[in-house]
Amino acid sequence: MAVIPVIKQLARDFADLAFPNMCLGCGTPLNDSEHFVCIGCLALLAPTGMHLTEPNEVTDLFMNKTIIEHGCSYFKYIKNGLLQRLIHDLKYRNQPDVGILLGRTAAYGLKRSGIFNDVDCIVPVPLHPRKLKKRGYNQSEKIAVGMSQVLDIPIDTNVLIKTTYNETQTKKHRYERFLNSQNLFKAQILPEHCNKHFLIVDDVLTTGSTLESCINEMKKIPDAKVSVFTLARAIE
Ligand SMILES: [Zn+2]
Repeated sequence: MAVIPVIKQLARDFADLAFPNMCLGCGTPLNDSEHFVCIGCLALLAPTGMHLTEPNEVTDLFMNKTIIEHGCSYFKYIKNGLLQRLIHDLKYRNQPDVGILLGRTAAYGLKRSGIFNDVDCIVPVPLHPRKLKKRGYNQSEKIAVGMSQVLDIPIDTNVLIKTTYNETQTKKHRYERFLNSQNLFKAQILPEHCNKHFLIVDDVLTTGSTLESCINEMKKIPDAKVSVFTLARAIE
C-alpha cells in the first residue's frame, strides 16, 4: 500500500474512533435517522441499471456456463469511490450494519423493478465456519438481511454451506482462484428445497467463479431455479 492511502486510512480510522457519528463518505455529522452515510452520499451511489435491463453484463457472464433466471450487480463500482470504501468497511473493519444499509438501499430499487419478485428464498454466499469465526459475521448475510427487510423474502443460511476453507483470494491469480472455487460449496437437498427459486447474494462480483460454483451446487436441488445478486461488479 502506498504511503498516502495508508495515511488516509489512518485518518479515517482515527475519525471513526473520535467521531463515530460522522458520515463515512463526506465526514459531516449524521442526524438521528442516518447511519454510517448521510442521505447526500447515499444518493451518490449510482445504480448500474442492470435490474431494469436483461440481458445485462451479469446474465451475459453466466450465459454459456450455466442457466440463471435473473442476475444483476446493483451499484456502479468506482475505484476508490464511496461504495468500495463501504464494502471494505463491511468486510474488513467490523462494520456489519453497513451491509444491511447497502442491502436495504439496493432492495428499494429491486422492489420497484420487480426483477426478483418471484424469488422464494435469499441465500447469502456462505463463509466457511472458520472464516465466520474469524470475521464474526458473514458480510453477504448482512446484505441479505437488508434485502429481506425490504423485499419481504426469507433468508436461508442452511441450504448452502461452505465445505472447504480457502485462504483470502485477493492475492491469488485468476486461474488459481478458478481452481480454488471448484467444489467449495455443498447444497443441502431436502424435500422443502425442491421446486424453489433461490436468490444467491454476494458482495462483489469479479470473475464470477465463486457464484458459478454456488449456482451449480444449488442446481443439484430438483427443479430449483437460481438468480444472482451482488452489490457491485468489479472488473480486474
Ligand atoms: Zn456524507
